[in-house]
Amino acid sequence: MSNNRNSLLRLLPSVNELVAEIAQSEGAKEYDLPAMTWAVRRVLEKARNQMLEQELEPAEDIVLDLTYWLKREIFKELKGSGSLKRVINATGVILHTNCGRALLAPEAAAFVAEQATCYSNLELDIETGSRGSRYHHVDDILTELTGAEASLVVNNNAAAVLLIMNTFADQKEVIVSRGELVEIGGSFRIPEVLKAGGARLIEVGTTNKTWLHDYREAISAETAMMLKVHPSNFRIEGFHHAVSTAELVGLGDELGIPVVEDLGSGSFFAGTDYGLPAEPTIQETVKSGVSLLCFSGDKLLGGPQAGIILGKKELIEKLKKNQLTRALRVDKLVIAALIGTLRLYQKGQIEKIPVWNMISRTREELARDAHRLAALLSDISDLEVRVQEDESCIGGGAFPTAALFSVVCAVKPKSRPVDSLEKFMRQADIPILARIAKDWLILDPRTLLPEDYTIISERMHAIDL
Ligand SMILES: *Cc1c(COP(=O)(O)O)cnc(C)c1O
Repeated sequence: MSNNRNSLLRLLPSVNELVAEIAQSEGAKEYDLPAMTWAVRRVLEKARNQMLEQELEPAEDIVLDLTYWLKREIFKELKGSGSLKRVINATGVILHTNCGRALLAPEAAAFVAEQATCYSNLELDIETGSRGSRYHHVDDILTELTGAEASLVVNNNAAAVLLIMNTFADQKEVIVSRGELVEIGGSFRIPEVLKAGGARLIEVGTTNKTWLHDYREAISAETAMMLKVHPSNFRIEGFHHAVSTAELVGLGDELGIPVVEDLGSGSFFAGTDYGLPAEPTIQETVKSGVSLLCFSGDKLLGGPQAGIILGKKELIEKLKKNQLTRALRVDKLVIAALIGTLRLYQKGQIEKIPVWNMISRTREELARDAHRLAALLSDISDLEVRVQEDESCIGGGAFPTAALFSVVCAVKPKSRPVDSLEKFMRQADIPILARIAKDWLILDPRTLLPEDYTIISERMHAIDL
């Protein structure tokens, strides 16, 4: 086998040979030499990897006609916009971290496009003609929607926690329940972020049980705040006790210690309307009297990546004065995307926010779409196709144990293993992501967009070739 591999590798032309050949072909006139060289390098590397992997599919004509394969891939590379591209998410995971989390509403995206291509009053007070604040535009709408006194938006929720720690707890102590010392998404760990902000972590309680007296006993002259963290991506079942935000605020008021809550996902709605477990909403948390709270812009809110901080005006003013705020500042496009999204909440047009549209899809709608997809695929002779009940999930660390019902289209190739079909779909020009369950590839319509159906069908039909 390795001989075979080596002889394949020896067939690959050099970069120079290939660039010279491409330069002479019909469609190459519009590309300059650096672009061609870059594309050739990438494709040669891809060819080498495929040969070494020894996973050549019968459908991959790399072995059959190397020159044709190389040319095709190079032109794909030249025409394509590089590495970042759209994908089709058939996994049913709504806030898929690997796929960019929340989709923006088209209305919000249109506002971004306008703000990106036109000048604006980003930091201009139109009335007076003097310098204004970029945060002001989004503050109006955030305080109106949430009832908070004031707001500040930073790069992401990790930045929000970092900024809060650095502003109020540098060289001081922060009390956190051991049940809430979570790691989120592999790179955000509460103890590490506290440390980065200069705060000393005081852990109280145990993994499964923390009581109000645990906090009370830990408070000292060094205490800067009590921090409550939404455990987001995990849940303790059974023998469990956590202190509620209201109880903590009561203790904080008694002893003059601010309470800060990291809500993680943060939602304007109780998910119970859609069969999700009860979670305190953003508005309820504001009302509970916490000094500050923060949450992500691109999780359940359904907006752009951002960290939204709400709370008492004097504390928000202190945050704004921290030099770190300048480093964590949000771009105007993020502000536009956030305002565009929040306007839909303001108008009550929740169905236009893709995250909530997907969460609220009914069994009937999902069944109709699963059947539609199954019908498109039914004439593929190598495929068994069926429609079945399944589950989707929200993802992004929101509602870890909550599964949404779904109705999916499941397909099983007759003449090849299912993982090779999964790979074939994933490696399409517009990659199609789906999950494998036993011998079946599961296509969940919950996260599909209207135009995705024909693209999936076309790619799936290509396995017949
Ligand atoms: C997701 C999450 C974060 C990190 O938010 P980003 O916006 O991804 O930085 C922080 N805390 C909690 C509880 C989370 O769920």
